[in-house]
Amino acid sequence: MEFYRYVLMKNPLTLVGCCIVFLMAAVAILAPVLATHDPVAINMTEKLKAPGAGHFFGTDEMGRDIFSRIIYGSRYSLGVGISIVLVAALVGTALGSTVGYIGGRTDQIAMGIMDVILSFPSLVLAMALAAALGPSLFNAMLAVSLVKIPVYVRLVRGQVLSLKEKQYVKAARSFGSSTGWVICKHILPNCTSPVLIQVTLGIGEAILIAASLSFIGLGAQPPAPEWGAMINTARTYILDQWWYATFPGLSIFITVMGFNLLGDGVRDILDPRSKNKPGAIKMTALLSVKNLTVDLPTGRKTARVLHGVSFDIKPGEVLGLVGESGSGKSVTALSILQLLPGGKGGISGGSICFKEQNLIDKTPQEMRKIRGKDISMIFQEPMTSLNPAFTIGKQIMDVILAHNNISKREAKEHALDMLGRVQIPDPARTFASYPHQLSGGMRQRVMIAGALSCGPGLLIADEPTTALDVTIQAQVLRLIKEATMQAGASVLLITHDLGVVAQICARVAVMYAGEIVEIGDVNETLLSPRHPYTRALLETVPELTPGYRKKLASIPGSVPDVFARISGCRFNDRCSVKKDICLAQKPQLVCVNGNHKVACWT
Ligand code: SF4
Repeated sequence: MEFYRYVLMKNPLTLVGCCIVFLMAAVAILAPVLATHDPVAINMTEKLKAPGAGHFFGTDEMGRDIFSRIIYGSRYSLGVGISIVLVAALVGTALGSTVGYIGGRTDQIAMGIMDVILSFPSLVLAMALAAALGPSLFNAMLAVSLVKIPVYVRLVRGQVLSLKEKQYVKAARSFGSSTGWVICKHILPNCTSPVLIQVTLGIGEAILIAASLSFIGLGAQPPAPEWGAMINTARTYILDQWWYATFPGLSIFITVMGFNLLGDGVRDILDPRSKNKPGAIKMTALLSVKNLTVDLPTGRKTARVLHGVSFDIKPGEVLGLVGESGSGKSVTALSILQLLPGGKGGISGGSICFKEQNLIDKTPQEMRKIRGKDISMIFQEPMTSLNPAFTIGKQIMDVILAHNNISKREAKEHALDMLGRVQIPDPARTFASYPHQLSGGMRQRVMIAGALSCGPGLLIADEPTTALDVTIQAQVLRLIKEATMQAGASVLLITHDLGVVAQICARVAVMYAGEIVEIGDVNETLLSPRHPYTRALLETVPELTPGYRKKLASIPGSVPDVFARISGCRFNDRCSVKKDICLAQKPQLVCVNGNHKVACWT
């Protein structure tokens, strides 16, 4: 409820649309109470009277009260608009989901027909159909519904094409569920939002087209008080009796505007791509790292290990940070938590803003409160991250008690709850166990439970599956994703495994020699990599297809020494497509497509 109130307050035009639609609906329902006269009663002694006390909107050429006809006309307009859209949506959804799911020639033929219908302007096609069916309100509604069906077919079919490839749909099919059951139970519920948006936006248009058909004599027929038909008869009197056409015209305008404003609001709420989505307005980055530069003491010298690293993580997002060992991934993570040797002393430039506060400005005491509470970290090797001298329960309780003003009993209950949430089979037994009594996978689950126990906004997972058996890795990754989704936390996942990135990340940043060289959405970046280093990393991923015999690729050379003086691109000594400019000038990270950015001269 709070959310909807927020939406309406943030979108005053949606509120206006809502008010108009509710007002129109109330007028239509209360028409017999609100109307001052019989809308079809003829009284020639009162014909063409100007608006006044007896007739608020004047009278027409038959002496009928225009105000009462407008009130009753709202029943026609709302009824027509809603009926047209419901018929089109139901038929279009059924057809679109069926052909999309069946695919093949059925789909091709159906979509060919839909494309032909969509290639005509909808008003022209509706006029032609209404003329062929004969002038009546029912035929006009039928014509407009037929014209609008392809819009829903296209919309739903597009959704079904992507949804039918989802694992849960494939699983339902493998269990022997019928086509109808799979469509109704597993696919259609996930198409509701786009259909609802289209329905709300479509009602205004349907009202307008139906009124246009009545205006040219193909829709509602006299003496029905339909607004389009009223304007049709008012045309003859437009110069001398201004009120006759004005009030029905205003009614159409206000009603259509109301539905369109409401439709825009519904789209802003339900469409994740909408720029005006209220969540999107609030959705500034949870973590924003800008131009981070880190210098670390190595022996007597200081080495620059990060060279202006920049990236954002949005609330609830999983960002993968990939690269070879020595590329600066872990240093980036440790910089965020100021766990570098010497605290934040090594950070020589840039900013790390978490919830719009620069962590670099925080005192060590303030950072202690943030670690574990607002930002948590899971390390590679859970055995070394857990103290062997204390039980699992004590270690999780210590974290909870350090950040929450609660009793030990409450802390214990919370710790047991967290162990249950990470799918540990016997939380009470694990609570009382020592780390060495647990398997690697169980220890990593315990780490995840501890890391999420104070509800952090950001979880940093540094190679969380590297030390685990390959059979446990997928379970732990799935658990990280599910547990953070439930908690609404964002994740910075550090890994060298692009397969892991493809499984759970929404975006990926590729690091090389202390710089981000490519960043973008996972699908776009991994399917269309632009940087030669990203392409080389992808070629090193082993192909497990049976019979596949291609030699496993490796990237020649190694990550440059931190003391190496490199001019131009830092990857130039290993790059097979380098040009002269690559040796002279450093490429900057620039947008190549949407939020896909690459630092490369090619
Ligand atoms: S900038 Fe030049 S050297 Fe660097 S990756 Fe691109 S092509 Fe290769």
